[in-house]
Amino acid sequence: MSPGQRSSLFCEVNDRIYELLESADPDLPGEFLCECGRDCGRRVELLPAAFATLREAGGIVRSPDCRRPRFSLLRREPADGVPALG
Ligand SMILES: [Zn+2]
Repeated sequence: MSPGQRSSLFCEVNDRIYELLESADPDLPGEFLCECGRDCGRRVELLPAAFATLREAGGIVRSPDCRRPRFSLLRREPADGVPALG
């Protein structure tokens, strides 16, 4: 699976998780899959409202570990304004 395919698959899964959380207990955080596109297997704990805000802003779910510049080698794009070092 390519990073892009994995990322969009995890996006869909997270949307389902969000729907379930919001209908069950919107005040409790849930574990979303990291959408960085690599097979990192990380989970990101977010409140449903925080996930909705992220989506509205066009953002993706990424664990703090996957925000580090040394992990941003797959795509040539600035990672949250941090210059890539490698
Ligand atoms: Zn990740």
